[in-house]
Amino acid sequence: MQTTLIKNHLFFFAKTIGIKKISGGMGKIMDSKNENKLRIFTEFLFFDNFNVLSIILKIRFLNFFMINYFLKLIIISFFLFFLFLKYNIAENNQILLNEVLPGILLYYGENEEPNEINKGAIANKVAIIGNKSILVYDTGPSKQFAKSFIKELRKYSKKPIKYLVISHRHFDHAYGIEVYIKKKVTIFIDKTEYFYLKKEGPLINNLLIKNLGFNENNINFDDISDEKINFLDDSIEVNLGNRRVLIKNLGIAHTKGDLIAYDYNTNTYITGDVIFIGRAAAFSDANIPMWINVINNKLNLSWDYLIPGHGSIINNMLELNDTKNWLYFLDNAVKQAISEGDMISEIFQYPLPKEIHHLKMKSITLRQGIKKQLNLYRKKYIE
Ligand SMILES: [Zn+2]
Repeated sequence: MQTTLIKNHLFFFAKTIGIKKISGGMGKIMDSKNENKLRIFTEFLFFDNFNVLSIILKIRFLNFFMINYFLKLIIISFFLFFLFLKYNIAENNQILLNEVLPGILLYYGENEEPNEINKGAIANKVAIIGNKSILVYDTGPSKQFAKSFIKELRKYSKKPIKYLVISHRHFDHAYGIEVYIKKKVTIFIDKTEYFYLKKEGPLINNLLIKNLGFNENNINFDDISDEKINFLDDSIEVNLGNRRVLIKNLGIAHTKGDLIAYDYNTNTYITGDVIFIGRAAAFSDANIPMWINVINNKLNLSWDYLIPGHGSIINNMLELNDTKNWLYFLDNAVKQAISEGDMISEIFQYPLPKEIHHLKMKSITLRQGIKKQLNLYRKKYIE
């Protein structure tokens, strides 16, 4: 019954535009101008624009059921369109890269906590393009992100990705590493940071899967072996073809060993999490006094631009104060808490100097790192 009805509708639909026969059920339509040629319904719809237009013009002559049929078609099209949109957003297939300086592409990570929407893509990632090859700085939080990053990068350059610098082990910078291992990219990371990446990685990754809905297939730590990694404890200069880039281990600071890059063509530092702009710097795995020393003494090449690990690109030394003032505050707060025997809850009551008022994510960052720092500072005092 239903089938006959549909066929009738189709027949009526065909009749209104001068088609004589329908054969082969729903799928096939015989063209009135070329009776020997069977045509697929969709082919007919997409290629006979004139006929489609005539359908639209003749719609007022159609009977009630026919209009119903078109309405259904429209509703289904809309449904499919939104399904398509939803799929694309959910899979986060496309990421945005900007050429912020000649030959330097930046994925800008928003200053926000990792959540189910950003899927941990909260840190900056950079690609430097030379005449012969490309250097990528930081992988992003997952295999999926790294793949999207490379796909987007390919719109700008087809040159081989020869080097990958992993600034440090934190997931938002390092968990896309597998994609680059498979591509046989030369990878640089600090040795101790690599050790911790492997040691604490599986536990952290489980938390990301549970709490942020990360893909189970996000990263497989068993696939990562140190044969494929170069441990950098001082510095190395690479040439990407008319473009020299310095890769340097600044030593203990934000983590046990932070790798930075410096592009001589544009006098640009890419610092990873040694520098945070606009938000409180995460300090759970840091040595705060050594970090302050690194910022003051080890970023010693003259620079025109600096791309931080989090926050916007800067061109002025004074803006480093976003990180420095926060670290000074932490250093003072931890020392004060120890000397006065204050509890963690009391540290939260300490007045904030006005230079750090504008920083985002202060209390969550403080909560994440303060306990560990209290223990570290206490040990130091006892020694
Ligand atoms: Zn970090």
